[in-house]
Amino acid sequence: MKKKYITLLNGEMIEYQLERRARRTVGLKVAADGLVVHAPKYILEIQLKKLIQEKSNWILNKLEKRKENHVLPIVWQDGETMSLLGMDITLYVVNDKKNKQPQFNHDSLTITSPESDNEEVIQRKVIQWYKKKALTDYSRRIELFAAKLGVDTPSLKLSNAQSSWGSCTSRGNIRLNWRLLQAPPSIINYVTCHELAHLKEMNHSAQFWAVVGRIYPDYKVAEKALKQLSHQLHRM
Ligand SMILES: [Zn+2]
Repeated sequence: MKKKYITLLNGEMIEYQLERRARRTVGLKVAADGLVVHAPKYILEIQLKKLIQEKSNWILNKLEKRKENHVLPIVWQDGETMSLLGMDITLYVVNDKKNKQPQFNHDSLTITSPESDNEEVIQRKVIQWYKKKALTDYSRRIELFAAKLGVDTPSLKLSNAQSSWGSCTSRGNIRLNWRLLQAPPSIINYVTCHELAHLKEMNHSAQFWAVVGRIYPDYKVAEKALKQLSHQLHRM
């Protein structure tokens, strides 16, 4: 296999591996370590480049997806970087005989525990802190946007779902995933508005999106950003 470079139609130069084989067509695949091109033995370099370039969008999409999927899980130790409201914060772990409340300070969260080496203990404490903070944070947003929508502030609970960021029941109870607290405020606002809009429209019809748009005009951008962020948010 040979390492090669090609400039795609968007001007981005990428690396790829070329494998020449006894085959008639050119095959592309994006593997864990990047683009792999399977090409017939006698295809001209210039022809091959053109074929790859024609697939620029497909390649860029796949490479982007691969990056998103490649998220390292959090290591529950001193010095780890976590995300809070879209900002990086550092986890500090301090060993102390006494169990103290977590301390948040601008860009760090300090967990004090007699079991500072026990990652499960640290994880539990951090997540507890995130949940508590999420409830306060989301409550404020729900109140704000409910007023904007002209409805009573609904009841709010946190969810721990793996596959959804929020939900709204027919009884008007809203649940928001505590993991969202890692996301930028704009994303949390969007999910809040999305669920609130279900109080008016219990579906995803055009009318529903019109309601969302009334309280959160930039919803399309946020929806896309949330999809891209999804894997990041599942780190925790
Ligand atoms: Zn919905």
